[in-house]
Amino acid sequence: MNIKQKIEQITPAMIEWRHSIHEKPEVAYQEKDTSDFISKKLSEFGIEVHQGIGKTGIVGIIKGKNSNSKKTIGIRADMDALPMTEKTNLPYASKNEGFMHACGHDGHSTMLLGAAKYLAETRNFHGTVYCIFQPAEEGGNAGAKAMIDDGLFKKFKIDTVWGIHNWPGIPLGQAVIHEGFAMAGGDIIIFTIEGKGGHAAQPQYSNDPMVAAGLTITALQSLISRQLDPFKNAVLSLTKIEGGSAFNVIPDTITIGGTLRSTNTIIRDDMLKKIKKVALNACAISNCKVNIEIRPGYPSTINDKKSAKIASEIFKNTFGEASINVKETPTMGSEDFSYMLEEKPGAYIWLGAGEDAEKLHSAYYDFNDALLPIGAEYWANLAETILVD
Ligand SMILES: [Zn+2]
Ligand SMILES: [Zn+2]
Repeated sequence: MNIKQKIEQITPAMIEWRHSIHEKPEVAYQEKDTSDFISKKLSEFGIEVHQGIGKTGIVGIIKGKNSNSKKTIGIRADMDALPMTEKTNLPYASKNEGFMHACGHDGHSTMLLGAAKYLAETRNFHGTVYCIFQPAEEGGNAGAKAMIDDGLFKKFKIDTVWGIHNWPGIPLGQAVIHEGFAMAGGDIIIFTIEGKGGHAAQPQYSNDPMVAAGLTITALQSLISRQLDPFKNAVLSLTKIEGGSAFNVIPDTITIGGTLRSTNTIIRDDMLKKIKKVALNACAISNCKVNIEIRPGYPSTINDKKSAKIASEIFKNTFGEASINVKETPTMGSEDFSYMLEEKPGAYIWLGAGEDAEKLHSAYYDFNDALLPIGAEYWANLAETILVD
């Protein structure tokens, strides 16, 4: 029996596991039942399980036939859900009120569980497969970083890392594999503009932070268009503004907040420096001071070129030439698998969930179960292709 046939046999079980995980969504670092469910399954498959890495993270270790081989790979899935209310009315819809698997991490975990079952039963490779189930990908909670800080790459000798995210809007089963930049880095920026409040009718006695805020917003929005090389990419969106309490009082303080998305750390550092300079100068015009707080977010997700090529080859060999989508551009969204890719070479691929599929983070979204065997088969082929003598 070949990989495809074996995975087909596992698929009905995968669908059940996926629905079980879907029913009990848990958010960042609270993935206790999810982590227990996955660990129990891994143990049942005869896999060595390490729980509690990065709080609720798991590493499952599968050794191949030739135990002398030092070759290894790390396959990563995320486990966390989102703090939102599901509206799908599915029979297996969320039973945890106010929480929902709206990004398909239930499916990502299940694809890896399916592959783990196959790999543990066949062990048709030489070396070691590390199955990494990480917590807290969503909301800037950086579960991947938590696992790394907790010794993921020190405790386990992992040579390369691999990830999948399902992608609504792309034809079902097609893979998008970027050679290099895949997703942006994102930072939160908060400007606290301090002026001097007073009577709205006597502005001459005030330093108006409202005017400083206006100048700052306008000046910052010409930064990307005028000071960034047109062949480089960044986005600055100011999305929050707060301040003022009355129609006849000039306030003391205005706060502006937003996000900078960039494609690499050189652009990011350069833009952050320029943003600070522009904001300081714009506020100085109105005799206001500005405090700029940068809350660093996930770094850019950058695939190793060689690994991206390997992933493409495996995908083509497994599912045919047409299964590779070369039309999709990278996105300015961000992803914390980037932390793992900063430490180890590897590739993060998008797997098409269907052109008309409900978008990620929608209250009506549901992971497409047709992807379960595709993802599991890709993982199985990846292990058996890379881990040879
Ligand atoms: Zn998400
Ligand atoms: Zn996601």
